[in-house]
Amino acid sequence: MIDLHSDTIYALWKSGDEKNLISNDLSIDREKLLNGGVRGQCFALFTVMHDLVPPGHIGKSPWEILLELHERFVRETEAAGIPLMRSVSDLHKGLHAILTTEEGGAIEGDISRLSILKEWGVRIFGLTWNWENELGYPNSNDPDITGKGLKEKGIEAVEECGRLGIIVDVSHLSDGGFMDVARYAKGPFIATHSNARAVTGVSRNLTDEELRILSDHGGVAGLNLCPAFLHDEGAEREEDAESRIEDMVRHVIHIYRMAGEDVLAIGTDFDGIGGKLEIPSPDRLYLLHDALHKSGISLSILDKMWYSNAERVLAEAEEAV
Ligand SMILES: [Zn+2]
Repeated sequence: MIDLHSDTIYALWKSGDEKNLISNDLSIDREKLLNGGVRGQCFALFTVMHDLVPPGHIGKSPWEILLELHERFVRETEAAGIPLMRSVSDLHKGLHAILTTEEGGAIEGDISRLSILKEWGVRIFGLTWNWENELGYPNSNDPDITGKGLKEKGIEAVEECGRLGIIVDVSHLSDGGFMDVARYAKGPFIATHSNARAVTGVSRNLTDEELRILSDHGGVAGLNLCPAFLHDEGAEREEDAESRIEDMVRHVIHIYRMAGEDVLAIGTDFDGIGGKLEIPSPDRLYLLHDALHKSGISLSILDKMWYSNAERVLAEAEEAV
């Protein structure tokens, strides 16, 4: 399996020295990855900004926070014996860590920093989180905001990613930004952790048109297990919201019907999501696999969703440079 998105490194960083990747009470640790048969686990360096910067880190610049997250990623993966994926062919040898970033504000508008990310081994670059930054605007229920396209620096970032072989991630981005990525991206782009807006009407999910454009460009959308993106039953407390397999199946079937089998992928968002999770860790994803198979999705399509679609996009970006 390849999981296109987790926030585990951010969760470890936020815990101070309390938690590690070898064994922890989070969704992802070494044992749960190995038991789940995961080959490629994406670890996002999520650069937290504005009012969400945790106490103890207030006053640090976004770039400083990204450097700390990267140091933590290196330390944790080395201690846990999970090698960094340098080439997609590494995945044939067993579990590897795939390095990604979330929140393009981390580079503070300095496009040359993308080369530093490339040296680290970053494979996927998320343009925005839920805030406006130097590159563009976030998804929003406000049509004026989500209608906005990329800023000039955002277009430059997309072009530079194309030159470096880094895949652009449109999860969290505005709808206008999505269309600009489709216009300026060289090769496939990706939505690492986004579901179908026609099934659950939140701006973080992708419209049918976006799913088809993503597919036309050879990209994939990773299924997100966050309760708020799977159904629209509100819960008073985040920890009471339910992430259910039956809702995941509804999203997958819709995405499959709208955009075909080549767009399907998994982007759990583990350790970035709360609630009562029917699938709390990678070693339980077989439950979703079973449910999808029972609902009529063939094993060859499930192979694509679990592994080969994401592998294809990673390989294509690698070959482009
Ligand atoms: Zn996210």
